[in-house]
Amino acid sequence: MSGEKVRREAPALDVTPAVPAMPAGALREGAVPEGLEPEKVQLKSLSREGLERFVVEELGEKRFRAGQLFNWMYVRHAASFDAMTSLAKDLRTKLAEVATLHSVVPHEAYQAPDGTTKVTFRCYDNAVVEAVWIPNPDRNTLCVSSQVGCAMGCTFCLTAKMGLVRNLEVGEIVDQVVHIRRLFPEEEHGRLTNIVMMGMGEPLHNYDNVVEALKLMTHDEGLQLSNKKVTVSTSGLVPAIQRLGDDITINLAVSLNATTDVVRDAIMPVNRRWPIPVLMETLRTIPLKQRRRITIEYVLLGGVNDTMDDAARLVKLLKGVPCKVNLIPWNPHPGTAFQRPEPEQVAAFQEYLLARNLNALIRETRGIEAMAACGQLGKPGTRMPKRLRLQVEAAQQASADGAAEIGAL
Ligand code: SAH
Ligand code: SF4
Repeated sequence: MSGEKVRREAPALDVTPAVPAMPAGALREGAVPEGLEPEKVQLKSLSREGLERFVVEELGEKRFRAGQLFNWMYVRHAASFDAMTSLAKDLRTKLAEVATLHSVVPHEAYQAPDGTTKVTFRCYDNAVVEAVWIPNPDRNTLCVSSQVGCAMGCTFCLTAKMGLVRNLEVGEIVDQVVHIRRLFPEEEHGRLTNIVMMGMGEPLHNYDNVVEALKLMTHDEGLQLSNKKVTVSTSGLVPAIQRLGDDITINLAVSLNATTDVVRDAIMPVNRRWPIPVLMETLRTIPLKQRRRITIEYVLLGGVNDTMDDAARLVKLLKGVPCKVNLIPWNPHPGTAFQRPEPEQVAAFQEYLLARNLNALIRETRGIEAMAACGQLGKPGTRMPKRLRLQVEAAQQASADGAAEIGAL
């Protein structure tokens, strides 16, 4: 049987979610974490227009109240309805009866010495998702999760080992950002400037919810992130890549990770469905907004895809693709046989690309001690400073009773 034939016969992946967002039986009695009310309307799952409809049609209130509510949720990061002092008391009471502000609650945090912090969140069904705060002098980046686990099965990635448990709801994605803004207040840590959808999961496998969440993140009355600073990373779901630009303007990153179909088939099963030539042709032809470039992510696996022949093939593959390359030395995690390449090999790979006019950066390894680096999500980290633990506890408490304000970390 030829390799081509195997590829055609192995469409194991389906872009429609394999698992419904709310699996039956997920709500065991007494198991819902404090602060979450899954039976009520999840306000953070509503679009700006959806919130207005809810306020007018369900609550019988004036339209402008939706604007006030939106502002309390996304600009002032209110911990409770009670904190929304510009809303009449009876409206706040009504809201608390039928709706809930929080879709996830902070659970634990692990901080690496460089300040990179993995924060885990609990969902209504006790699923745990993770976001990673990556501070820099000139910007702060948050890496956000889109699914519990991942269906894509990349052999070098820890998240893959969980399989796909379920998609995250819109509110469960957006609330990671809101909680982080509260845990890392701007006055002390600087503004959260960048979002990368590079946490757990394949964002384009949870397409509708991710697009809705991105709209809230970039909404000019909402979280107000610049669409130039928000990036979705995909393992290469071609039909979804083709749709994305029509639905929202943000940056695209694609995890290429190999230069031949033989290697990519072996390390990224998604390649059997959309092999390298199909993926590259898509990247060459999708319309990009002015001056935007696609980020090509390339995880360097020692002895697997890091040779000079790979570098030469990569240059060829990227001809005609408006892009920059992010080289990511593989981050280790238990239970895999891969190796991190030697620094000299990484440098030589980068040099080769630079010499051929490709913009190639080596992605600094951040948060490796907290198991917060790329591909290490899905497993507890190594330490949690007392101060941060107290903050997370305060945030949990605030979500639960809406009273406490989160202080400085
Ligand atoms: N599912 C999406 C986004 C999450 S993974 C995707 O695959 O693009 C984010 C990035 O981490 C991807 O580029 C992926 O190739 C990379 N990655 C996964 N495991 C890794 C590891 N152990 N070390 C370094 N990078 C890894
Ligand atoms: Fe999923 Fe991305 Fe990990 Fe692959 S690398 S298993 S697509 S999270």
